[in-house]
Amino acid sequence: MYRPTIGLEVHAELKTRTKMFCDSRNDPDETRPNINVCPVCMAHPGTLPVINREAVRHMLRIGTAIGGTIADFSEFDRKSYFYPDIPKGYQISQYKHPLIVGGELAGVAITRVHLEEDTARSTHAGGKSLVDFNRAGIPLMELVTEPMIPDAETAGRFARELQLLLRTLGAGKANLEKGEMRIEANISVSDKEGVYGTKVEVKNLNSFRSVERAIAYEIKRQTALIESGGKVVQETRGWNEAKQETFHQRFKEGSADYRYFPEPDLPKLYLKDIPEFSPETIRAGLPELPWERRARYAKAYALKEADAAYLCATTERATFFDAVATALKNKKKRIALAANYIVSDLAGVYAKRGSEEYAQLNAGAFAKLITLIDSRHLSSRGAKDTLLILVEKGGDPEAIAKEHGLIQSHDAEALRDAVKRVLALETKAVEEYRAGKEAALQYLIGKGMKAAKGAGNPAILKDLIREELGK
Ligand SMILES: [Zn+2]
Repeated sequence: MYRPTIGLEVHAELKTRTKMFCDSRNDPDETRPNINVCPVCMAHPGTLPVINREAVRHMLRIGTAIGGTIADFSEFDRKSYFYPDIPKGYQISQYKHPLIVGGELAGVAITRVHLEEDTARSTHAGGKSLVDFNRAGIPLMELVTEPMIPDAETAGRFARELQLLLRTLGAGKANLEKGEMRIEANISVSDKEGVYGTKVEVKNLNSFRSVERAIAYEIKRQTALIESGGKVVQETRGWNEAKQETFHQRFKEGSADYRYFPEPDLPKLYLKDIPEFSPETIRAGLPELPWERRARYAKAYALKEADAAYLCATTERATFFDAVATALKNKKKRIALAANYIVSDLAGVYAKRGSEEYAQLNAGAFAKLITLIDSRHLSSRGAKDTLLILVEKGGDPEAIAKEHGLIQSHDAEALRDAVKRVLALETKAVEEYRAGKEAALQYLIGKGMKAAKGAGNPAILKDLIREELGK
């Protein structure tokens, strides 16, 4: 009855060698304050900004990837406001002519994507305020979605897909925890008549989970408020991770007047006249995009959609899986088996260890493990043990399996004899099997393994039993 409407505003720092308008280093990992600064990003009088080509290229690649319209003409604007973290007294941003308009990602329509500079970082402690200008002037992407997101899950899916896209494009690391990607959600709930409600802005969302939970919480809070006859007020709220609830931060006093006007110190961008920024050049330079990769995995190896999505969810996983596929010489069945192992067993091992270490795991060795399983030299139990050792210590899976006595007997004649002996003894189970009882087959396999002294592969035994009984 109450329909939520959610729009997201995402800021992401772009990965470039230098800052947006000067040659100070763009190094988000610098821990010493005020190291990466210069007269330009400190706004000394008489200094002039210069546009960072790399940042513009990142933006055009992002815009092309999401199917947005790249502006023929773009320019920067001054956004005036006074705050200690903004040394010039204005931020160079984009207003009327953003680089990208429109586009779509994870089913969510995008309004615009523009380029601006990040602010400095201020810390308030012990009655003092400290400002670190390392971050001032770092290229920052701002992406605004249409207010069309219906629920928290869709918002979370969108945010994860955006992070993956930025990482795939090499445009940014986009870690929410480090503030490299910042998400604000505008949430409103329409009333029973369908009239749009007052929107509330939620900030300080520094994980995907907090994005989802804060939205879900706000929808509940606003709905309950309306139902009890109350009114939603326009305000900015924060997210309290410990209490798992949003809290009031400040009321929005109308829309601030930023006195936008075109930045006179920067040239206009006539993008279509710059060869390296032509749509064809940008498109040709794009890597395989996350959704293309997922579709390729699903199609080429007949993977389940969810499994393909899991493999593509981080670049490390996808890179590892691609390396395994290459090592398996593109044999479809084995690659599908490898996918299955990564999604289930390897994921389980990594979950227990608390981190994924694909970079340390040798793709060739993993591929060999898969080959041993597929050729039935390893049972699923033996494979599990071998995998654990492979992850912990590395090495050759065949040598590991041999050392731990996990290699299965492949002496077909010996196994067949064992099966024959079992079938001759277990007449009752054989009858039951013939009567269609599947449980009887499992029982016979168990007996067969005992007869083979544990060296028999259940799958091979199953085949042999069926063969023998089929005669
Ligand atoms: Zn600088």
